[in-house]
Amino acid sequence: MINCSEKCLYEEDGICTLKEVGKASDTPTKDCPYFKNKEKEEG
Ligand code: SF4
Repeated sequence: MINCSEKCLYEEDGICTLKEVGKASDTPTKDCPYFKNKEKEEG
C-alpha cells in the first residue's frame, strides 16, 4: 500500500490504488512515474 496525495487518477483517499505497474505514464511527476491527472485524463 502506497500513501499518495497527488491528484492522480489512481489516488483514492490518500492511497495509491495502482495495482498494475506496467507502462509508465505520459505525465509523470518527480515522485511517481505512473502519475495520471485525475481531472483531465490524457492519452
Ligand atoms: S500512481 Fe503515483 S501519483 Fe498516482 S496515486 Fe499512485 S503513487 Fe500517487
